[in-house]
Amino acid sequence: MLRRNFQRNRTGKPGLGEGFTVKRTKFELRKVATPFHKEWLGGYISRNTKRTRQPTVNCEPDNLSSHACNSHFATVLFMRRILHIDMDAFFASIEQQRRPELAGKPLVIGGKGDPTKRGVVSTASYEARKFGIHSAMPLRTAYKLCPDAVFLPVDYKDYSRVSKMIKKILREFTPIIEEAGIDEAFLDISEIRNGSEEIAKEIKKRIKKETGLTCSIGIAPNKLLAKIASDMDKPDGLTIIAEEDIEHSIWPLPVRKLRGVGPKNTAYLKEMGIRTIGELASISLNKLIERFGKSYGRYLYDASRGIDDSPIIVHREPKSSGREITFQKDIGNIQILRKTLVEITKQVVKNIRERGYKARTVTVKIRFSDFETHTRAKSLYEHTDSFEDIKRAAFDCLNRIELKKKVRLIGIRVSKLEKW
Ligand SMILES: [Mg+2]
Repeated sequence: MLRRNFQRNRTGKPGLGEGFTVKRTKFELRKVATPFHKEWLGGYISRNTKRTRQPTVNCEPDNLSSHACNSHFATVLFMRRILHIDMDAFFASIEQQRRPELAGKPLVIGGKGDPTKRGVVSTASYEARKFGIHSAMPLRTAYKLCPDAVFLPVDYKDYSRVSKMIKKILREFTPIIEEAGIDEAFLDISEIRNGSEEIAKEIKKRIKKETGLTCSIGIAPNKLLAKIASDMDKPDGLTIIAEEDIEHSIWPLPVRKLRGVGPKNTAYLKEMGIRTIGELASISLNKLIERFGKSYGRYLYDASRGIDDSPIIVHREPKSSGREITFQKDIGNIQILRKTLVEITKQVVKNIRERGYKARTVTVKIRFSDFETHTRAKSLYEHTDSFEDIKRAAFDCLNRIELKKKVRLIGIRVSKLEKW
């Protein structure tokens, strides 16, 4: 059906299709505030929540529109279930997995693995974290904190191999997946019938079985909360947050736990006397907009209430990969053209190999000095990432273009890509 993940309807115009649930209008402060918050928020609650309190109702499109019209701040949403998965100390765990003698030892992965040289920590094992070592710290500092730690270089190639295995497992659960980094992803599990905990446990089991690694999973109605949740119980954690948990599990957290709140804004909020997300939630929208501008102020206002309507951005497979070279001086020499074509073909083959693709079609482009442009394409018998095969096809194409003028640009593109 509709994949409009979350829709905030301020106008009351329906057009929403069937089966929507009006879950919550403006945040129900009164309902979720603890006695502490009530006291702390003082008059704010009594002044502002009365007219914004709305019951949770199931709406058919008909009465939805009237309901939405009545409520200026109506928030209409699917009952989304977003799962965030984050691997535990990913790089360090892979190294410990393939070199069992490193298990249980403080381990620091970063740069070239030499703590006397420049470079920063990519990942520290949990044993190393006990010494205060964390990612983005200079290797030299890490060395000072724990000279006995084992320092290893980043083996990006192997980590991305493991990453691909994990993403492949995740894709078996749902195609609605956003790869948020080499060791994390968001999954929309709204349409999977099984319960959240069951899905999370199954994912953990599969990953453990096939890679030997552990991960932490957070499940919540949106990306913002899911990411906070996955971080709450590391390592090997599983945390489920519902909207009614926001008060006791999210509000006590420091503001920097919110995505988009960096050190600079954390410091600025601290100056305003705001340290926790709950304290941030007590500030009026107007005041936040006044201090932080319209868009970021609005973001903080929503985020502190656990509201986030950002969609899952599903990765699209690339359709093709190509390189072009425009010569400094127009070229009439076929040998130079051939040599250049070999060079750019090498680059393209390297590119698709690195990303794990094979190509089926090769296209060569020639642009003459007067900008007249010709392309020729050739399909191969099967998908390939063989340099020789792709080069042969490229020369085939080049030979089919009559080189009657000097050449300004030469390009190659491989397409019909397939992951292997
Ligand atoms: Mg991680």
